[in-house]
Amino acid sequence: MRRMPNVRVCIKDGPGKVSLVDMALPDPGPGQALIRTTLTSICGSDIHLIDEFPDIPAGVPMGHEAIGVVEAVGEGVERIRVGDRVVASCLTSCGSCEPCTSGEPQVCSTHGAPMNLLFGAQAEAFLLNGADFSCTTIPSGMADRDALFASDILSTGFGAIERADFREGQTVAIFAQGPVGLCATIAAKTYGASAIFAVESVPERVAMARRLGADQVLDPETAVEQIMALTGGRGVDVAVEALGRQQTLTNCFRVVRFGGTVSSVGVYGASQELAIPCDGSFYHRRFVTTLCPSGRARLDHLLGLIEQGRVDATPLLTHAMPLSQVVRAYEMFRTREDGVLKIALS
Ligand SMILES: [Zn+2]
Ligand SMILES: [Zn+2]
Repeated sequence: MRRMPNVRVCIKDGPGKVSLVDMALPDPGPGQALIRTTLTSICGSDIHLIDEFPDIPAGVPMGHEAIGVVEAVGEGVERIRVGDRVVASCLTSCGSCEPCTSGEPQVCSTHGAPMNLLFGAQAEAFLLNGADFSCTTIPSGMADRDALFASDILSTGFGAIERADFREGQTVAIFAQGPVGLCATIAAKTYGASAIFAVESVPERVAMARRLGADQVLDPETAVEQIMALTGGRGVDVAVEALGRQQTLTNCFRVVRFGGTVSSVGVYGASQELAIPCDGSFYHRRFVTTLCPSGRARLDHLLGLIEQGRVDATPLLTHAMPLSQVVRAYEMFRTREDGVLKIALS
């Protein structure tokens, strides 16, 4: 007997287009959970997926940031139960392969072929693979909106700083203050950066960067010169690329000190190659890239920081709309209408 009637699901409906359709969800299979969505959002990578990736065909359900309540679990699921309120990681994992058991579930080799991105969260309900490992329960006192960004952008923003081997008291430059860049700003602040130089020109994002902890917000046109001047010609310890453009990556190398780290979390879309300057700004640097660190332990770590009041990413939720208006929400998000950063869909 089917547990759920047809649900409304946002799908890719051809290049650059999404639609809301009715879809029947099967009962959860082994390891899966069926989750009734209570809050979801649109991510920058959704726009890349519908605009630039022909491999993602029409009809694919969209969305990978979600909070919901477990409606049913499949065979073998033991750690979550029907009725639990959970946040899902945007990258799912099996919990038993080599990457999963060595603390890198985001590159799970079982779920990773071809892609372990969660699909279908912009819907009334969705199926989550590897449910025991790919979600966690939310503390009862925590609101959905507080926990939502642990699924993706908050984890990615924190990952940008953590994988750069950042230490308290270091200096950080973050190129672009979209949702992920702003989460990197939150992370740099949380972990005790001595100076945070954010690079952004959109007025709403400049204001948000300041609000979330940036010490200075610099114009992209002059940021390299300004950062070098502000650091006495030394450069910063960590430079984060959070836009996904050649120029911002080049600028990261231009401002990072000898021995410092360029940390890239931008999604470069359809680009297949990037150039790295190999002049004086190249030697004795480190370059790291990060996928969203995911899985149950990661989610618990971030929810812990939120619960302690050390992290609050809710200011990023600038807009709220019903799921029924998801097509309109994509358009707003794509055009950054009305200063939109993130839209709460429920
Ligand atoms: Zn995403
Ligand atoms: Zn795995």
